[in-house]
Amino acid sequence: MNIINKIKKANLVGRGGGCFPTAMKWEMVKKAAGNQKYVVCNASEGEPGVKKDGYILENFGERAIDGIKIAIDFLSARNKCGIKGYIFINHEYYKNFGKKLNKIIANDKKYKIELFIKPDGSGYIGGEETSILNAIEGKRVEPRLRPPFPTTNGLWNCPTLVNNVETFYNVSLAASNEYQKNRFYTVSGDCISVGVYELSDNLTIEKILKKTNNYPKFDFFVQVGGDASGEVLNSKQLDRPASSAGSITIYNSKKYKPKEILRKWISFFVNESCGQCTPCREGVYRLNEIINSSDINWKLLEELLNNLDEASFCGLGSVVPVPIRSYRKNILKF
Ligand code: SF4
Repeated sequence: MNIINKIKKANLVGRGGGCFPTAMKWEMVKKAAGNQKYVVCNASEGEPGVKKDGYILENFGERAIDGIKIAIDFLSARNKCGIKGYIFINHEYYKNFGKKLNKIIANDKKYKIELFIKPDGSGYIGGEETSILNAIEGKRVEPRLRPPFPTTNGLWNCPTLVNNVETFYNVSLAASNEYQKNRFYTVSGDCISVGVYELSDNLTIEKILKKTNNYPKFDFFVQVGGDASGEVLNSKQLDRPASSAGSITIYNSKKYKPKEILRKWISFFVNESCGQCTPCREGVYRLNEIINSSDINWKLLEELLNNLDEASFCGLGSVVPVPIRSYRKNILKF
């Protein structure tokens, strides 16, 4: 069976949060015309509370790099085009694993793969797919307008395959028929055993907490898919999968005041907004004012969230309403 059929059979989807079908993306880049193509492995992992890619680089770096090589082979087969791979890596991971990864890369001279360190100060948005392309090209690190998509017009306008570390890891497993429909979950917050766990990809949040010995004995709620942009659920809503980047953060209900928790999310977005578009740049600033006022104007806050949702240029702005609205609905219940 060829690699694309193996990926299809394994039903692999992107593990950066978007869950786009991997085989479809690979075929789009393969079909795109061009004498030069690129493969980019996103190892920027900037969402607070998500640590799975770091865990994979630390423990299974060879596998992730093997997945990149498989992508290069797939794109170059029967095509006379040059292919170069990049691993776009954050500072912390470069410091911890860069030497080891470079050694693995150097062991096989057949492939051109290079580590590219995420630029200083590029923050959360520096890990967005098209911001990565700008960063590697030496441009200002901010998202690009889409379409065109990186699959046809990516690095230096060439077809570019961008996948997350976990996706390349899974591709390597699928290629050697070892993929077992598992995924990595980061569990953190007010729990006993903070860590990254490899478990079946169809477990409910409740089962993940129980299997990892992290189901709280106190009143709690969780945030799923990242400490900043994840959805907030109460303890009666745990019969669903841990979506997006597969993280679960536990909050002890008695420990946090609503304002404190809202402020935490909003100040994150204020700090991380790249300022390129008005709805997000101004919106998060105004949200911050509302949250810090003595009496929260919820009607105005909702209007701003609608604007962010509908008019933001990229995913950072449009995701701001997710934690705030779900917290209000599922925890504050009004
Ligand atoms: S939504 Fe925010 S992060 Fe995205 S482009 Fe606009 S200002 Fe930048």
